[in-house]
Amino acid sequence: MNIDQTIAAVVTGGASGLGEASARALAAKGAKVALFDLNEERGEKVAAEIGGTFCKVDVSDEASVDAGFEKARAAHGQERVLVNCAGIGTIGKTTRRDKETGEISHLSVDLFLKTLNVNLKGTFQCIAKSAAGMMTLGGLEDGERGAIVSTASVAAVDGQIGQVAYSASKGGVVGMTLPIARDLMSEGIRVNTILPGIFNTPLMKGLPEKAQESLAASVPFPKRLGKPEEYANLVLTMVENGYFNGECVRLDGAIRMPPR
Ligand code: NAD
Repeated sequence: MNIDQTIAAVVTGGASGLGEASARALAAKGAKVALFDLNEERGEKVAAEIGGTFCKVDVSDEASVDAGFEKARAAHGQERVLVNCAGIGTIGKTTRRDKETGEISHLSVDLFLKTLNVNLKGTFQCIAKSAAGMMTLGGLEDGERGAIVSTASVAAVDGQIGQVAYSASKGGVVGMTLPIARDLMSEGIRVNTILPGIFNTPLMKGLPEKAQESLAASVPFPKRLGKPEEYANLVLTMVENGYFNGECVRLDGAIRMPPR
């Protein structure tokens, strides 16, 4: 798909980090971009800078997602591109075995479900609702109607202690990518997922500096955190390259997390 001013896009989590970089990269190519995010202040700011539209959306809430698509489509028309970046990192907060009793004593079911609600259900319902809209569009080259890119994590497959909920949620995103892609290919809609390693975003800046340094040192090559722009480049490739379909691709400097 050629990204230009005829293309409308929705980017969830577009107020920050990987979503913000993706929104900026799409807008730089001319696309009209709507940002779905909870962070109103940041979202409005980014939207103003890229000539887009901010929609205050909680991706885990169906009515909120519906209202977001309504606002985005009223502003820019039916989107041909959906990029799912909204997510929460509950790493280290769910499931660490109690060394004395052996019990999984710190598993909070509420936090587990919240993580699934945002990262998995949120991604699923944005895909479902966006695809339904894309099906109303005419086809471009090769009959293509739309392209969807979602964000999982290497934690989907390299899970660490304490990441049960996060890994489960991102594993779900990986697991649903191919079945959804197979279902939507007859409608001319491509579906792909990126598994980022460790990227330098506000999500990571919350960690102590020492932890950030040791994470950077753990990346085989290059020995640094990923840049949000590097993530956005792969988003653009997945949207622009019409032969990319049904893929889950790692973008991680070859990091394979050792067990901790
Ligand atoms: P970030 O915190 O900078 O951005 C996430 C955005 O999602 C924020 O603007 C936040 O307000 C928004 N958000 C959170 N919950 C939401 C909800 N319910 N509805 C709507 N918006 C919501 O984080 P990031 O690093 O840019 O992460 C983006 C995605 O990439 C996430 O899904 C994250 O799990 C994933 N990821 C990040 C890394 C990394 O190293 N940064 C690695 C692997 C995966």
